[in-house]
Parts: sequence; C-alpha cells; structure tokens
Amino acid sequence: MCGIVGFVGKTNCLPIVYNGLETLEYRGYDSAGIAYIYNNKINIIKEKGKLINLKDKLDFNISSKIAIGHTRWATHGNANKTNAHPHQVGKFTVVHNGIIENYIDLKNKLLKKGYQFKSETDTEVISALLDYNYKLEKDILKSINKTKNELVGSFALGILCSDDIKNIYALRYSSPLILASFTNGNFLASDIPAIINYTNKYILLDDLEIAKLNEDKITIYNKDLKEKKIKYHIFNGEKTSVQKNGYEHFMLKEINEEDKVFKETINSYFDGTLKSLNENFGFLKKYKKFDIVACGSAYHTGVIAKSLIENYANIIVHTEVASEYRYKKCFYDKDTLVILVSQSGETADTLAALRKAKNDKIKTMAIVNVLDSSIAREADYVIYTKAGPEIAVATTKAYVSQLTIFSLITLYLAYINNNLDKIEINNIIKDIKLLPKLIKKEIKNYQTYYNIADKIYHNKQIFFIGRGLDYANSLEGALKLKEISYINSVAYQAGELKHGTISLIENKTPVIAIATDELIIDKTISNIKEIKARNAYVIYVSNTKPKDIFYDDFIQIEKVHPILQSILTIIPLQLLAYKVAKNNKCDIDKPRNLAKSVTVE
Ligand code: GLU
Repeated sequence: MCGIVGFVGKTNCLPIVYNGLETLEYRGYDSAGIAYIYNNKINIIKEKGKLINLKDKLDFNISSKIAIGHTRWATHGNANKTNAHPHQVGKFTVVHNGIIENYIDLKNKLLKKGYQFKSETDTEVISALLDYNYKLEKDILKSINKTKNELVGSFALGILCSDDIKNIYALRYSSPLILASFTNGNFLASDIPAIINYTNKYILLDDLEIAKLNEDKITIYNKDLKEKKIKYHIFNGEKTSVQKNGYEHFMLKEINEEDKVFKETINSYFDGTLKSLNENFGFLKKYKKFDIVACGSAYHTGVIAKSLIENYANIIVHTEVASEYRYKKCFYDKDTLVILVSQSGETADTLAALRKAKNDKIKTMAIVNVLDSSIAREADYVIYTKAGPEIAVATTKAYVSQLTIFSLITLYLAYINNNLDKIEINNIIKDIKLLPKLIKKEIKNYQTYYNIADKIYHNKQIFFIGRGLDYANSLEGALKLKEISYINSVAYQAGELKHGTISLIENKTPVIAIATDELIIDKTISNIKEIKARNAYVIYVSNTKPKDIFYDDFIQIEKVHPILQSILTIIPLQLLAYKVAKNNKCDIDKPRNLAKSVTVE
C-alpha cells in the first residue's frame, strides 16, 4: 500500500527514484509524484494514475542529487493530482504512507494559525504541522520530533525542508520503511525491491525513530533524539525473486513456485521426525485454546486451520477477521495463544489485534513471511513462512506457505494429544514427501483449468460451494477470482444454499463445487444435484472421480491426507482465476483499488 522511495547521493537521483517507484508498483496506487532539489529549490511533479503519466512529465537529464517519490493509495480524498503526494506547506515537503487519525483536529488548529490547505488529504496537515513546529523550534530535528508526538495514527514519512537541501529526513510509526546505503548514496524505501539492484544490506527503522540521510551517511535518532548505533540486515533472497523471470505475470510466476515454497517451509521446521516438530512447536503445548486472527487470504488459512486443529487435535480454535477482533470483546485468558497471520507482517489491522492481545497480557504468535516485520518483532513467538518475496497483490505462494505451517502445527498437536495413530502419522509424513511432486503435477495440468476459464470468464457472477474444509477452500477460491477479475464471486456452505441463495441460480450460472472431504462428499453431491436441477453450470472440483455425472466440467485434484489437502485444492482455483482475469484483460498483478501490504486500518 503506497510506495515511498527517497534517494540522496553523488549521482542523478531521478532515474533511481522513478525506477524504485516502479519496483513498488505491486503495492497498489492510484497517483504518483516526486519532489526533487534542483537549482537549490524543491520542485514537485505529480500526476494522477499510473507511473507512466509521471514519467512523461519528468526530465531525467537534469542533475538532481536528492529526491523523494511516492505512489499514493488514496485514503483521504479522491485519487487526483491535487491530492497526490508530495505535499508542500511552507518549508516542508512530505510523502506519507498511512493515516493520520487526528488530522481534523490538527487541521482546525492550523487553520486558526493562518495555514491554508489545497488538498483533502491528512498528509498535507503533516507538512503544515512540521512548518508550524519549525517556526517554534527553529530546528528541523526538534520540529520533526515535536510533530511526531502530536500525530495519532500510522505514518512512514519522507521529508524535505527547504532550509536544508542536503538531507532527507525519515520517520515511521506502524507503517513500513527501510533505509539502505550504497557507494553512490543513501536510500529510504517502503520495501526491498526498491533497493535490491544496488545493495542487499538494509536498516529497519524502529517505530518513532527519526533518520537523517545525506550523500555520505545515514544517522538514526532514537525517541530522545540521541544518535543510535546502526544495525544492518541482509536480504538473503535471490534478486530474481523480485523479477518476473520470463513469466507474463508475477502471479503466474509465484504459483509456479509453490512446490519450492512448500518444500522450503517444511524443511525449516520438519526433518521427517516428530522430534523436529517438538523442537519448533513445543511451546504450543502450553495453550489450550487458539485465537487465529488475520485478514483476507491469511484469514482463510485460519478458517482451514480451525477445521483441522479442532478435528485432528481436539483443541478449540476461534478464527476471526482482524478488523473485527481488534474492537470486540475477547474471551481470551492465560490458556489462549493469539495467532496472527500476515504475509507482510505489516497488516495494520492484524498488528492492532496483536497489540490489543499484548496489552491484555495474552501471549501471541506470528506466522509471517517478511523477516523482522512489525508483527514478527512484536509477537512473543514467530514462525516464518518461506515464501520469499511475493509481488503480485493477490497472494498465492504465501497462502500455500501459511497453509503448510498450519498443516505442521495440526500434525504436531494431533500427535501430542494422541489423536492420530502411528499408521495415520506415517501416511501424513509420506504425503508431505510426495506433495512437491503433486503440486507440480497440478500446475502442469493448467490447460484443463484454462479451458474451463475460457467458458465462464464472461459471467457477471460465479458461485463457489463446499462443506467444512471445502467451504474454507471455497472462500479463498472466490476471493482469488473476485480480486483479480472483478467478477462477483461468492462462497457458500453447500448445505446452506437452499436457505436463500439458490434463488440466484439461473440457467448456466457457473457454480464451482468443491468436495474433497470423504466423510461428507455424498452430502455435497446431493447439494450439487439440487443446483444442477436448476440448470447451473457446475464445475466439480474433487479428489475422487464420482460414479455418476452431475457436472458440466470436472477438475480432478490429487488426493492426500485432509491435513494437507487444501494446499492441492487451491492450485486449480488460483490458475482458473488467473486465466479468467487474463481473458477479461484485467491488471492481474495490480488489481484496481487493491494494495499488497495493507498498512492502513
Ligand atoms: N493517507 C494518505 C492519503 O490519502 C496516504 C495514503 C497512502 O498511504 O498512500 O494521501
């Protein structure tokens, strides 16, 4: 969500900042802008829409050595040129990621002091407040410090001051921001892809720290404005992991990495012995209840985990969307572990849910993909998924890696609670070993799913149905399809349809019916027959070939133990969504209105 790139150095910075913004496009945005210093003056260029509109307005030949750039994902005010960042008031020019919750109060105060505002954004208020505080403090650092203490909400900021045209200032609270150095200068950026072509060493700015960057060095000031020793982190992933490598879209590339991601995630926690599970997940023994809290697809992994852990380990699990959980009455106690799931580790609602639990002295565990992200740093326990950088907004491989962790957790908890016999445990372990091959096999079968996509892509609505685990799979299948193809796709419990929704079934309405759970497969088939009788176009997804034909198309998936099955169930649904979106000429990697890392509430 929003991209920030700033650069100060010995070399022309406009191409660096612009290219950096391009690498962050995946985060989602609707306008873009750059402020750069040229002829000792701050110049601002901004445009509505895609970066290419900004590119047309930039003169890359002028030699500017210091600039801050931004791709905006509008939260306050329309996506237009006026509201685009950077925002300049008086001596201060600012790019911002996040939301200032008390901006109305601050704006009213500043209006009274004579400030005027051009945009509807909360960000412009930050620029004005900095300018106002600078008049009082007469010192840039002190004015940034004072401003930071007056802001309520979330913010990653890149700041220029016209009285100091050699430095960029940066600050963050609850929104991501990294810093990096290379021989020709220093960076600030929202994420690693913006710096990886120059260096793999980066600095994580802690909440409420202020950074000052000039062409020679980066200085970090702690909460009391004391200089802090800098700690570098190394990005160990491959550079190519943030490039398309010949695939038409990141989403397709990332689906094709799912076998590798599964293997790497498994290998990090499980060497084939239950002892290794005990070493990595032993701490879970202390808890009698789990609250799984997440957003979007990560929430769906929680719905699947609830079904698995309750069924196989006999432990109560409560799964909830983070934006609800953070404001509701929670019945947790010392026996509860709150599990937060987030690819980026920066999801604002999930982070807030974590802070709420911590505040109530409840233990927390994070399942995150991004090393040292806020959620990872603040949770009591961290389990990293090994998906590598995920660029497409619609998650695929990170989703698989989260499911993989929940499969291992279920196996471990079922084992220590004596809910699985030796034979079943051995079968699961056999399946774990087989799974990368089976994932690959399903991906290779893409033409089957593409052919079906070609038949249904023009529909305005598509239903997904399933029971139990397959209802959870339906939720993710429907989300994948709607987020990238903009087709209204909704998931229902198969048995619930006749209580209302069946009235929406018309001649040839596509219904994707998922049935992998042996125990209730016949019940689901009865429900499918009910909708077939109303002329729905049925796409049946199952790990078992049925005895009779009640469908229009059949997707046969590989059969494994239910603890692992959802990993295989989702693959055809991801590829189907991909092809439907492609046929509809949608912007697959950057769907409209969406952002990759949702760092606002
Ligand atoms: N709240 C700010 C705005 O609407 C920043 C949004 C963002 O993070 O891009 O301009």
